[in-house]
Amino acid sequence: MPATTLALELDSVVCTYPDGYEALHGVSLTVADGEILALLGPSGSGKSSLLRAVAGLEAVTSGRVLIHGKDMAGVPPHKRGCGMVFQDGQLFPYRSVGRNVAYGLEWRGHSKEYIAREVARWLDLVGLHGFENRAVTTLSGGQAQRAALARSLAAHPELLLLDEPFSALDRDLRERLSVELRSILKAANAAAVYVTHDHHEARTVADRIALMDDGRITD
Ligand code: ADP
Ligand code: MG
Repeated sequence: MPATTLALELDSVVCTYPDGYEALHGVSLTVADGEILALLGPSGSGKSSLLRAVAGLEAVTSGRVLIHGKDMAGVPPHKRGCGMVFQDGQLFPYRSVGRNVAYGLEWRGHSKEYIAREVARWLDLVGLHGFENRAVTTLSGGQAQRAALARSLAAHPELLLLDEPFSALDRDLRERLSVELRSILKAANAAAVYVTHDHHEARTVADRIALMDDGRITD
C-alpha cells in the first residue's frame, strides 16, 4: 500500500473538442485523499473542460485519468463515483428538498428509515435543518446551492467536483458559503476539486491551489 492514496491523478490529459479545438494541452495533477484542490484560472482557461473530462462528460484524447488508482478509460460517468455541483445546482424541481438529497440513496435501494436519517444528517451539515419538505422552488440561491451540495455528499462520492458553485450568488453570501463549504468538506472528509476564477475564494476553500491558463497548469 502506498503511504498516501490519491483520490485523483491526471497524467498528461489532452482534451480535443469535436470541432478540433484543443482545450487541455497535457494536464497533470494529483489530489490526495481528503484534499481540496482549487483550480484557479480566467474564463476560457479550460477549468470546466478539465472537470468534465474527470467526470467522463468529455472524451480524453490522450493521457490518463485515475480515480483512487483506477484508470477511468471507458468507464461511464455514473460509474466514476464523482459528485458534481455546478453554478446552478440543478436540483430536480418536482422533488422536495429532502427527496433531492435522497436521490442517490434511493437509487441504491436503502431502507426508508436509513434514507430519512441520512437526509436529515446532510441537511443539518449544510445548514438546512428541517428543510426536508420544502419545495425546491421556494429556496433562495444560497439555499439551493447548499441543497445541491447535500445531495452530492449524501451519495458519498469518492471525489467531489465543484464548478464555480457560488458564482451566481452575491458577494457577501459567496464569501460566507466559501468558508462554510470548507468546513463541510472537511467534516465529510471529501476529496474535492473546486473550480473558481476568484483568488480569494480559492484561498478560502482549498488546501492547495493549481493555476490554470490556456489549457495548462502553470504553477
Ligand atoms: P473555463 O471553464 O475555464 O471558463 P472551458 O473549459 O469552459 O473554460 O473552455 C475552455 C475553452 O474550450 C474555451 O475556449 C471554450 O470556448 C472551449 N470549449 C468549451 N466547450 C467547447 C465545445 N463543446 N466545443 C468546442 N470548444 C469548446
Ligand atoms: Mg467554466
